Amino acid sequence: MSTEKRLSLYLHIPFCSTRCGYCHFNTYEGLERLFEPFTAALRAEVANTAQRLAGGWTLGTIFLGGGTPTHLPLTHLASIMRSLREQFRGTDDIEITSESNPSHISEGYLAGLREAGVNRISFGAQAFDEGLLKMLDREHSAAQIGEAVRQARRAGFANLNLDLMYGLPAQTLAQWSNSLDAAIALAPEHLSLYALTIDEGTAFIKRVQKGLLPEPDPDLAADMYLLAVERLAGAGFHQYEISNWARPAPSTGSGLALLASRHNLTYWLNEPYIGLGPGAHSYFAGRRFWNLLAPQVYIEKMRRGESVVADGETIGPSLEQAETVILGLRLNEGLARDRFYRRFGVPLDEVFGATLRQCAGWGLVADDGERVCLTTRGRLLSNEVFQRLLP
Ligand code: SF4
Repeated sequence: MSTEKRLSLYLHIPFCSTRCGYCHFNTYEGLERLFEPFTAALRAEVANTAQRLAGGWTLGTIFLGGGTPTHLPLTHLASIMRSLREQFRGTDDIEITSESNPSHISEGYLAGLREAGVNRISFGAQAFDEGLLKMLDREHSAAQIGEAVRQARRAGFANLNLDLMYGLPAQTLAQWSNSLDAAIALAPEHLSLYALTIDEGTAFIKRVQKGLLPEPDPDLAADMYLLAVERLAGAGFHQYEISNWARPAPSTGSGLALLASRHNLTYWLNEPYIGLGPGAHSYFAGRRFWNLLAPQVYIEKMRRGESVVADGETIGPSLEQAETVILGLRLNEGLARDRFYRRFGVPLDEVFGATLRQCAGWGLVADDGERVCLTTRGRLLSNEVFQRLLP
């Protein structure tokens, strides 16, 4: 009997050429001098982690995120990929994604990424309107998004995602509609649509507080979301998660096997993953833990052979159950009662029946006896459901 256990790996590359005003990620501009020592440190963390796991785990997905992974020189990224191959076994159908930006990318770089084993590319397109891109502090133009997609296709990427943002300050429904059409015209396999959140500590919140940017209108953002649901369904995309749409895999021609992000499905199915690099989070063996944030300190600690884990928490059974339901409800297929029972040995309704019935009464949850899922209205008000499920 096979004892193979699947694991997903996230690698955080904390560098960008400039910092966008809305960004709340652990990323830094002007740290190019750290590229070399950072690459050595990340390679060391890959090796240490493989040793700690002591075999028995096979990587099903790898995700290079950030930051902008492709801001690293190709030789560095290829060297990180080599260390992964040296240290880990991967499944035959391993999905290896890299995030990238449409600016500062070349066909040569993309071809090198493919050669290094990356088989899925995700571009932060965000908008196709020059004024909105400027407001977001993005370095690319709308035309560069199309050019990046064509370069990626020529470099051999057959699985490509575009990220788009809606609910932006002063964004109109017509601008959003144009962005959707422009994205559809580029025929990506996958689309991720995110509502802008204006977080503490960002340049955007200061601009809003000073009256330099209008606050986004949540009702208009909801209209944008509903427009996307309708427009993307018409264009042959299947929504499979609150913020994610995918085309059917070519071999099936049906909506059953989608070109979904298998890496992100790991998170939504509440399965184990390990995060490496500054600030990366892991969920493994009943614990959630995360690395320290500062790249310089990360590099120094790795150099001295010290742990880079900043902190962690044990996830007890009731929190694990709640998180499994909440994450499962993010998926359009929802949460299957038998999956919950197989994982926890207790019926879903024994723990969450009253809350789910209450949410169903408000029209936020649908229940066919086998599965529970969010309704369209429930997707718009998902936090109302999720907070009631937490212990
Ligand atoms: S490119 Fe992405 S990660 Fe980098 S600063 Fe902009 S939003 Fe943040």
